[in-house]
Amino acid sequence: MPIAIVAEKPGGPEVLHQIEQARPPLGKGEVLLRHAAIGVNFIDTYFRSGLYPWPVEKNLILGSEAAGVVIAVGEDVTDFKAGDRVAYTIPNGAYVTERVIDERHLVRLPAAISDEVAAASMLKGLTAHYLLHRSFHVRKGQTVLFHAAAGGVGLIAGQWLAAKGVTAIGTAGGAEKCELARQHGYAHMIDYTRENFVERVAELTAGKGADAVYDSVGKDTYPGSLNCLKTFGTFVSFGQSSGPIEDFKLSDLAAGSYTATRPVLFHFTSDPEYLKTASSELFDMIQSGALKINVNQRYALSEAAEAHRALEGRKTTGSTVLIPKTA
Ligand code: NDP
Repeated sequence: MPIAIVAEKPGGPEVLHQIEQARPPLGKGEVLLRHAAIGVNFIDTYFRSGLYPWPVEKNLILGSEAAGVVIAVGEDVTDFKAGDRVAYTIPNGAYVTERVIDERHLVRLPAAISDEVAAASMLKGLTAHYLLHRSFHVRKGQTVLFHAAAGGVGLIAGQWLAAKGVTAIGTAGGAEKCELARQHGYAHMIDYTRENFVERVAELTAGKGADAVYDSVGKDTYPGSLNCLKTFGTFVSFGQSSGPIEDFKLSDLAAGSYTATRPVLFHFTSDPEYLKTASSELFDMIQSGALKINVNQRYALSEAAEAHRALEGRKTTGSTVLIPKTA
């Protein structure tokens, strides 16, 4: 019987429970997958806690990225067949051993991309892709600030920025995380638990400021992040690991004629053309060796609550995956 990890109601990691799940019937255009690896993301904790609204009343299945193999296909499925290795990123439903999913969400995995790497990089890698190409299109020679640089998205973004010739300044909590981020493309690292990151960015940019700030920390780094921008700079707020920004005013942008955006990955990936081209660019970058995907934490699917505690407790670096037990 397939297994699912559900949050029975909004709350802390203790609301996560394992249940057996009847296999749903395959509809038109749908594919049955057996998961090989499932990515853990900060967004899972936002849904679990109730920060993000639930699409169901109870027993929400968390998880927004996974990789696996096609076991069966429904009527009218054109692009996939049993045995194909695939991955996807869509909101919720991934903490399961088996899943029925619409084929339009799937991308085929090249042989050189392992299940773990795919599950660790579909959501985080495509996030890095749209941040650097769409939210603020970085150019060689520019300087950007990227918060939480040693995290899942952070380690991927650092390498991608370096490959593009961008000077990346990162922040992270602690010397070890700073060292790890330095090894993954960041030219300068700031330990924001000890140093004033606004002052350090001013020093590192000779008082000019950064072309863009990518901020997923939220409450604790606002409004400092705005103060790190050069005139006409771009503030990309894409997460809130420390809590939501509460006091943003449009007039805050007048200090430097700044641009601000609050993007969401799934708005980009719901365009099939973007999903296809961006994932192909991501896999090319990984296969070329320019991007190394760090799977630094592995848990059994049944240990999802432990994975959440570690992520929220700032104990992780790089990506975390859950591995379903094979029957
Ligand atoms: P990370 O691996 O980056 O983990 C979050 C990190 O945030 C922590 O390791 C920690 O790093 C830092 N942090 C700072 N303050 C806190 C705090 N109070 N509590 C917990 N962590 C804190 O997670 P992900 O790679 O999964 O995601 C990174 C961010 O990007 C998240 O905010 C996520 O929501 C966002 N995101 C947004 C997307 C979008 O489309 N909008 C898509 C994907 C991710 P340190 O100790 O170094 O400070």
